[in-house]
Amino acid sequence: MHINMFDLTGKVAIITGCDTGLGQGMAVGLAEAGADVLGIGYADASETQMMIESTGRRFEYINANLIANASKYALTELIDQAAAIMGRVDILINNAGIIRREDLLDFSEENWDDVIAINQKAVVFLSQAVSKYFIKQKSGGKIINIASMLSFQGGVRVISYTASKSAVMGITRALATELSQYNIQVNAIAPGYMATYNTQALRQDVERNKAILDRIPAARWGLPIDMVGPTVFLASAASNYVTGYTLAVDGGWLAR
Ligand code: NAD
Repeated sequence: MHINMFDLTGKVAIITGCDTGLGQGMAVGLAEAGADVLGIGYADASETQMMIESTGRRFEYINANLIANASKYALTELIDQAAAIMGRVDILINNAGIIRREDLLDFSEENWDDVIAINQKAVVFLSQAVSKYFIKQKSGGKIINIASMLSFQGGVRVISYTASKSAVMGITRALATELSQYNIQVNAIAPGYMATYNTQALRQDVERNKAILDRIPAARWGLPIDMVGPTVFLASAASNYVTGYTLAVDGGWLAR
């Protein structure tokens, strides 16, 4: 077993939304595996910065709202800026995402457009832009998209989230198909029910919390640390013949 296949020393990773939650966990995990990290997001990422710098790796941050910047032009500019700051790029993690809960019959256009903009459109055009760098560098590259259980299931009161996360699984396959010829692997991770800001409302609802926990074979909410092993695997040479796949990190939720 070539354990150093998981080593990311000398690699540069771009990750969206790494100030908190799963993004923070993955960003720190990539740094612990050896990568320098550039975050893109709209919130204060100083905690992540401290955690990454304490591993001895470099952390840079571009402040940008991915809903307001969800045009091909603006998303391409963000990748151009990131590559200029870091000098190269090897890994993109499309993590930033939002959920809006509203009954289907009242679901607003704003709650549709905002979610689709960041969860779906940004994924496509950030991936397109970064792929051009991978090709220019002749290095190949890795793209990891963050999907969801609602890439597989319908969900309740979250139509735009389900639409966008179902699209992420298809986008992952489509990107993988076209980008394989450039040695770019594109995969997704579908987290199960993870204890982050995203699921705060669910966890505070005593009935929903119990129903969810009762259905998870692992009998606990997932944590950002649970994302690290799969992320490092999909970001490293260890997964060079894995592409187009969506890996569930769900404590057995889908298996049940
Ligand atoms: P979170 O709410 O803690 O984090 C979301 C991240 O996205 C934050 O870093 C936030 O700053 C960033 N973000 C939100 N809106 C933004 C905007 N307009 N511009 C730029 N950045 C923005 O949630 P999380 O659980 O860590 O979510 C991370 C990803 O994992 C999301 O794509 C989410 O859909 C997905 N996911 C989460 C769960 C879960 O149970 N928590 C399950 C499946 C998938």
